[in-house]
Amino acid sequence: MKLRRIAAALMLLSTLLCAGLLYADVPPDWTEPFPAFRIAGNLYYVGSADLASYLVATPKGLILINSNLTSSPALIRKSVESLGFKWTDIRILLISHAHSDHCAGSAQILKETGAKYEVMEGDVSVVESGGRTDFHYGADKTMWYSPAHVDRVLHDGDTVTLGGSVLTAHLTAGHTRGTTTWTMDERESGRLLHVVIVGSPNVNPGYKLVGNKTYPRIAEDYKREFAVLQSLPCDVFLGAHGGYFDLQSKYAQFKGGDRNAFVDPGGYKAYIADRQQAFEEELRRQSGR
Ligand SMILES: [Zn+2]
Repeated sequence: MKLRRIAAALMLLSTLLCAGLLYADVPPDWTEPFPAFRIAGNLYYVGSADLASYLVATPKGLILINSNLTSSPALIRKSVESLGFKWTDIRILLISHAHSDHCAGSAQILKETGAKYEVMEGDVSVVESGGRTDFHYGADKTMWYSPAHVDRVLHDGDTVTLGGSVLTAHLTAGHTRGTTTWTMDERESGRLLHVVIVGSPNVNPGYKLVGNKTYPRIAEDYKREFAVLQSLPCDVFLGAHGGYFDLQSKYAQFKGGDRNAFVDPGGYKAYIADRQQAFEEELRRQSGR
């Protein structure tokens, strides 16, 4: 149990550094291969040991969530093909948010598959400029990546549908202006499960929550995000990084035969509460209170 807690703390640390600091020094679990597997219904995990990507397989083709680093498409492709799916059947590409650890691979994937890129309004200019209009990292060339054209601009509450599957885009801005939390319902062993893929509730190192000239509404957006995340019904708890939901421990349980390893409504609530507390502490600190 103790080891598990240490592992979770280490993963949380790598998550907190998400798109922060160290592009020259990418955490090893961001590029470490991880077995692809079916989470529930027609939803599959196809990411690395920490950078999460998800595949929704429908009779009309595939939806991919998150293209990850510039170097990630080959790894994601291997995972998709290991499940018996065709890479070129990807019809729609979605992202959790416009940071280069979740969207830098998009240009290559769109070119290879011909998929449509559907992105939340606040993140559109960032992905179309290859990171140059990011409110915090825009001037940092090490955070730039290949620009990718957006085919459909999403707004809060919009749905993405394909072959009978429906994903809902919830605007949960703050971490970026268009951070998106995806929800969908999946049926597993006759049970209906509410799936939540958290976009990111984290305040990165160096983020200005008070007097932010390039993102004046940042603190209000985070507050709204936590209200939205608290309101979402969640059975299957997932997110943009494996560290959010303890992917590695849950996968070990899953491999041990626990089909419900990713059903964790309590873990979801605890994670959101923990991140909200961290945000509020940082806001108090920056407000000098
Ligand atoms: Zn990020």
